[in-house]
Amino acid sequence: MAAVSDQRAAQLAANLRSLEERITRACDATGRARSAVSLIAVTKTFPAADVLALAGLGLRDFGENRDAEARDKARALAALDPPAPDLRWHFVGRLQRNKCRSVATYADVVHSVDRVEVARALDEGAHRADRYLDVMVQVSLDADPGRGGAEMAAVAAVADACATATRLRLTGVMAIAPLDADPGDAFSRLAGISAQVSAAHEGAHAISAGMSNDLEAALRHGATHLRVGTALLGHRTPPPG
Ligand SMILES: *Cc1c(COP(=O)(O)O)cnc(C)c1O
Repeated sequence: MAAVSDQRAAQLAANLRSLEERITRACDATGRARSAVSLIAVTKTFPAADVLALAGLGLRDFGENRDAEARDKARALAALDPPAPDLRWHFVGRLQRNKCRSVATYADVVHSVDRVEVARALDEGAHRADRYLDVMVQVSLDADPGRGGAEMAAVAAVADACATATRLRLTGVMAIAPLDADPGDAFSRLAGISAQVSAAHEGAHAISAGMSNDLEAALRHGATHLRVGTALLGHRTPPPG
């Protein structure tokens, strides 16, 4: 894997610096500790060399939303000699049942479990790969099925399916803010759902919310995991197909 150009390395370092300032400022404003918030770099559409450069800047958590791309990147990083630091791969995209077996071979955390059958398929994949996965229930905060997520009424059943699966560990909830609505309002509803899920399941207190444009609102409403792409890596050109 060729290293990134000096110019790209400098750009990533500068982006990370301003992002960290934003996160620290938002944490300070809400009395949260920066250390209680995890930053996940969402590297979809960007090359594995960018992942390696960000790992060199200290990041260890990386997010992807398409199985084939994620698997290739995780493999490329794992095959490096000298070895890259140990990375944690977060799968954050819509998950079809037939992709679960593959995702379970490399993902450490799956944020997008939104159906009971997906929980079951991931559990089966984790068994087969002899691995354990951290999982979150993705909650739908709008009426758009294209964005994924369990309807409010289905969240408890999906959470139960994750919690009772032998190879899955339910760690919390995830959501993407609606496109044309106040993210604060949506994240406040997510906080309510998180309270219910964590009351029913010990240890399931993570809230994965907040992206480049709405991380301040997410932190105000208790986000523990930020998934940031554009603010770190720049604008994406859409993948072909
Ligand atoms: C792409 C993506 C992100 C990152 O979005 P940015 O706006 O680029 O920060 C976060 N979460 C999910 C689920 C994504 O697909």
